[in-house]
Amino acid sequence: MQRYKLSSGTQVKLSDHDPRDTAEFLGGKTAGKGRLKEMNRELESLQELLYAEGKHKILVVLQGMDTSGKDGAIRHVFEGVNPQGVKVAGFGVPSKEELDHDYLWRIHRRVPKRGEITIFNRSHYEDVLVVKVRGLAPPDRVERRYAQITEFERMLAEEGTTILKFFLYISKEEQKQRLQERLDRPEKNWKFNPGDLVERGFWDDYIAAYETALTRTSTEHAPWYVVPADRKWYRNLVLASVLIETLKGLEMQYPPSETDLSKIVIE
Ligand code: AMP
Ligand code: MG
Repeated sequence: MQRYKLSSGTQVKLSDHDPRDTAEFLGGKTAGKGRLKEMNRELESLQELLYAEGKHKILVVLQGMDTSGKDGAIRHVFEGVNPQGVKVAGFGVPSKEELDHDYLWRIHRRVPKRGEITIFNRSHYEDVLVVKVRGLAPPDRVERRYAQITEFERMLAEEGTTILKFFLYISKEEQKQRLQERLDRPEKNWKFNPGDLVERGFWDDYIAAYETALTRTSTEHAPWYVVPADRKWYRNLVLASVLIETLKGLEMQYPPSETDLSKIVIE
């Protein structure tokens, strides 16, 4: 899955990426879903090890246009993991209290502690995406944020946080279908937000803002992955694979017991 990783310094052009790509799994949808079930189990044991070892902190950042599948990815990729060790932090329109602080204030308080995986459903990147596209802050302030974000993430990494950032890349056509489904299916009506149509009108500006953000903030210590997300099953497989590869790479160990267990007799 390394093909989806952006190495630092890459000039990102999203038109070079295919949202419908499924190149790393040739078996198709049904087999792909089966493979995900196996990966769920693998992730479950790796997460238990992470929790038991209590040493590493894992931060997963999910970004993407409306309907790109951030919620679905969280539900499916983390199915079966122990909820005690996994947290989800969603970042919506900032409250007054949040706006009265710097934009990283609400972010920093939600980063993972040792032994934990925290998933950001949207993140500080909104402050160079929606904020830029909709002109919610002056351009020069937004401009300085790429470097600030890179430095903030560097600090987290140097203090022991493993950071993975995923851009769930859907096509404009796929978004149309998913929004239509929210209108057509009663059990999905609650998800329909007329504001999403307004944002959709800014599609090209969002693409440009994403290209800038991905180009300027993909680093060795906090890389971005551009995940083809038109096919939900494949999106899930990419996420699960990268997470599993990363967790395996940490070479975690179950901590030894602090007592001499050989002396213990249970009556
Ligand atoms: P959802 O992910 O559907 O719950 O929507 C959350 C909404 O909050 C999206 O429209 C985001 O663009 C918006 N949002 C998140 N962070 C910010 C921010 N810092 N400033 C303005 N809007 C934001
Ligand atoms: Mg939404």
